[in-house]
Amino acid sequence: MATVVVPDRLTSHVAAGHPWLYADAVPAVQGAGTGDFVTLLGQGRRPIGHALYDADSPIALRVLTTRKDEHPGPFLWRLRVDQALRLRRGTLDLRTTDAFRVLHGEGDRLPGVVVDHYAGFLVLKLDTPAWLPHLEHLADALEHHLAPRGIFFKGISGEPEPARPLRGHEPPEHILVHEHGMRLQVDVRRGQKTGLFLDQRENRALVRQVSRGRRVLNLFSYTGGFSLAAALGGATQVTSVDLAKAAVEGARLNFSANELDPAAHGFVAADAFDHLAACAAARDQYDLVIVDPPSFAPRKQALRAAEAAYTRLNAAAIRQVVPGGLVACASCSSHVPMDLFLQLLRESARAARRSLRILEIRQEPADHPTPLHFPEGRYLKFVLAVAE
Ligand code: SAH
Repeated sequence: MATVVVPDRLTSHVAAGHPWLYADAVPAVQGAGTGDFVTLLGQGRRPIGHALYDADSPIALRVLTTRKDEHPGPFLWRLRVDQALRLRRGTLDLRTTDAFRVLHGEGDRLPGVVVDHYAGFLVLKLDTPAWLPHLEHLADALEHHLAPRGIFFKGISGEPEPARPLRGHEPPEHILVHEHGMRLQVDVRRGQKTGLFLDQRENRALVRQVSRGRRVLNLFSYTGGFSLAAALGGATQVTSVDLAKAAVEGARLNFSANELDPAAHGFVAADAFDHLAACAAARDQYDLVIVDPPSFAPRKQALRAAEAAYTRLNAAAIRQVVPGGLVACASCSSHVPMDLFLQLLRESARAARRSLRILEIRQEPADHPTPLHFPEGRYLKFVLAVAE
């Protein structure tokens, strides 16, 4: 196995659980190619762990283990899947929820591997081609512990790798899943991410809890997860807004799947900023406004523009809340940490001339664990507040 000497200032980070070593922070790796395992050496060339090598990524090495008794390979993948499943079984109510994340990459110590479970089907996504040579062994480990109806490979983030079935049955066009008893149709092929934004599950449950008797506006609604939660929670009327026509149609179908009459609710294929402007012009306010945009800062260079966009968007949303009503604002950009997000919300409230009282602040749920020493992995912010 190839080796690399980890600079002294980084060895404690690796030992503490940081899963990445950047190419510009370690010496060039000799005698290894993308997908090979590399032994990490500390002071005195003592082994301190093993990593997966990616020759073309700024993240050159993803740490697989720092334990002496663990070695990369099929046996370790099985152990990781087993550990991850135990965590889910111990933290989620799998009697009412069959859509959840089985493997959350770095947080489950299989860095770069994401696996979501949808009613017996598994959808696998990779962050790096370095996992490709190990794909079959990963599938073996998943089959061994989960006995899924099928495993579908959704490809590699930012790479042209085609999606394809890996094992068992091909997923149907729509998989019917349950989330805290709520029914959702999932299209794992054409849907965004692996099909659903599972990271918002507990926040959708929170919305369900606070929606009774409210008129609700759900911006960036995708297939209507928050909208359904609100309607099932007793909202009098829910308007869902998303730029993607197919997502809005999906939301409509999901209302029917839950025996909610779509005709009693609004489904709008439009830009959320434009829709808010139209609401403002019509003086149309809501008892609850939900704002869950895509990441405005996918790269760090985009942060400045993203800050302005979040501030403007949330200010416009707050203006459309009746006095004393609720606003729920989310951000999924890892470049916007929680304290910055709260700072931006303060600016939004000031711009809207409203004061906010916070009811809940939330981050990722239990099936999206993150190592404490890996703040880069904490991307989700969700704030529920009263807008006075
Ligand atoms: N809240 C959703 C997930 C939202 S993902 C859930 O719980 O499932 C973000 C969504 O924003 C995507 O569906 C995308 O189509 C939509 N989107 C992106 N830009 C938009 C815009 N300018 N206006 C409205 N929707 C937009």
